[in-house]
Amino acid sequence: MDVQQSLKQINEQLEMHCKKGNISTLPDVIAVTKYVTIERAKDAYNAGIRQFGENRLEGFQQKKSALPDDVTMHFIGSLQTRKVKDVINEIDYFHALDRLKLAKEINKRAEHRVKCFVQVNVSGETSKQGIALDEVETFIKRLEQFENIEVIGLMTMAPFTDDAPYIKKLFKLLRAKRDEIKALNLNHAPCTELSMGMSNDFHLAAEEGASFVRIGTKLVGKEE
Ligand SMILES: *Cc1c(COP(=O)(O)O)cnc(C)c1O
Repeated sequence: MDVQQSLKQINEQLEMHCKKGNISTLPDVIAVTKYVTIERAKDAYNAGIRQFGENRLEGFQQKKSALPDDVTMHFIGSLQTRKVKDVINEIDYFHALDRLKLAKEINKRAEHRVKCFVQVNVSGETSKQGIALDEVETFIKRLEQFENIEVIGLMTMAPFTDDAPYIKKLFKLLRAKRDEIKALNLNHAPCTELSMGMSNDFHLAAEEGASFVRIGTKLVGKEE
């Protein structure tokens, strides 16, 4: 399917599900281009998409240099500390802050304040990256020492399952934690945003008030 068509369908779904969840603002769609070619990423650009997400350094650099410079670039994957210096000043948003050592390196290498999401492991599955829900507040308070880090929100990846009520429950928990942190009024952590929802579950994330959905397969496809 062409990107324009899939984008139209996704937008229709987002509208419907936001309405269902009583959400007045549609989430921003990040096109995750990690599975596709540069050509396909350009198709997405031509379909009107301006926000792109990649989870690896190489793919990130390729797509960023191929796309026009009016795009917003999201780094959505975990980042090895030694690679921070190669990417941190090229991105607009970092979605996977999950350890102090990484925060320290970002702080050292960044030439300006970086908009970060703290990644949360809401389900508690051992295979998932992220801070445990009940450690999020302590972790975020510790980030205050890093002047180049701004915690703009929380991010999660839901487990791969078609148990919709369960996924909705996880998204609700993340939203409640976001509200809790936001209410602390921390200068370094306004924590107003929610990055959640992928191809499988973006509609559920929309119902729960996601500000960014990260969609790969259903938007630009997946090349084997
Ligand atoms: C790959 C990836 C996505 C998109 O996955 P799809 O299921 O293809 O939509 C979203 N977020 C993160 C962190 C990813 O690594």
